[in-house]
Amino acid sequence: MSENINDFICPNCNSKDILDQKFVSIEKPNSNDPWSSVTQIIKCANCKKDIPAHLGERWDNISIEQAKEEYKKFN
Ligand SMILES: [Zn+2]
Repeated sequence: MSENINDFICPNCNSKDILDQKFVSIEKPNSNDPWSSVTQIIKCANCKKDIPAHLGERWDNISIEQAKEEYKKFN
């Protein structure tokens, strides 16, 4: 377990409950599509949105505010 990964908090609704978590393989990273570089997706148990794991778990210790700001790009 990495020290840089935090507990999940949904940047959409602030829930801490995970419904599902999946790994996806990147085939062709596309700079126009933020989803194309996402390797792990967490489905929020509350709002049922697909949340990129790097935002839900705030990899590299980004703040929840930064995660929410970044998440806007994924809508
Ligand atoms: Zn949510």
